[in-house]
Amino acid sequence: MEKLIVHVDMDAFFAAIEQRDNPELRGRAVVVGADPKAGKGRGVVSTCSYEARRFGIHSAMPISAAYKRCPDAAYLPVDIPKYSRVSRQIYKILYEFTPDIEPVGIDEAFLDITGSFHLFKTPLNTCLLLKAGIKEKTGLTASLGLAPTKTAAKIASDLKKPDGMVEVKPEGLLDFLWPLEIRRLWGLGAKTEQILNGMNSGAWQKRGGASEAGKRHR
Ligand SMILES: [Mg+2]
Repeated sequence: MEKLIVHVDMDAFFAAIEQRDNPELRGRAVVVGADPKAGKGRGVVSTCSYEARRFGIHSAMPISAAYKRCPDAAYLPVDIPKYSRVSRQIYKILYEFTPDIEPVGIDEAFLDITGSFHLFKTPLNTCLLLKAGIKEKTGLTASLGLAPTKTAAKIASDLKKPDGMVEVKPEGLLDFLWPLEIRRLWGLGAKTEQILNGMNSGAWQKRGGASEAGKRHR
């Protein structure tokens, strides 16, 4: 039987919690991470709000680089105890939908709803109820991907962030995956991306193989 996997990923989790708890931060660039010390700080950005992303700030960027891009952002320390409390609250909601959960981290998890979706009518409806439950009980948004495999579910949850919901039907799996850039694959680094892209434009293309087959599916 086909599997039905949901990847749940909270949107800008740490920053969203800070914005929820402090109305003055809403609509503002918020950077959660190391102390920027007016540009001389060490350490990295842990999470930033979508407003901060417009300045080119992103997770894992050196905090000094973030400060250079947006000195006016609100810089906040990481408050793990607070985020863990919210995380536990969210996991409680997830377990209302299936016992079969694989936690990935404080703000994301894979859910196997193959055996439980019928309690909520359809797989898509299960996801919509789940999203609504998280929003109602925590005031936060999550992005969900529903697909027959974990890899596809993970990719799908990322496509329409924030507050996204992307369903990949089993019969549409290949059509979904083919047009995507190779870097969408989970765990793929820049080096491997280069090598794989090289394969596509090099040896394979000379044989008129994979790239032609790829085009047909687009
Ligand atoms: Mg997240």
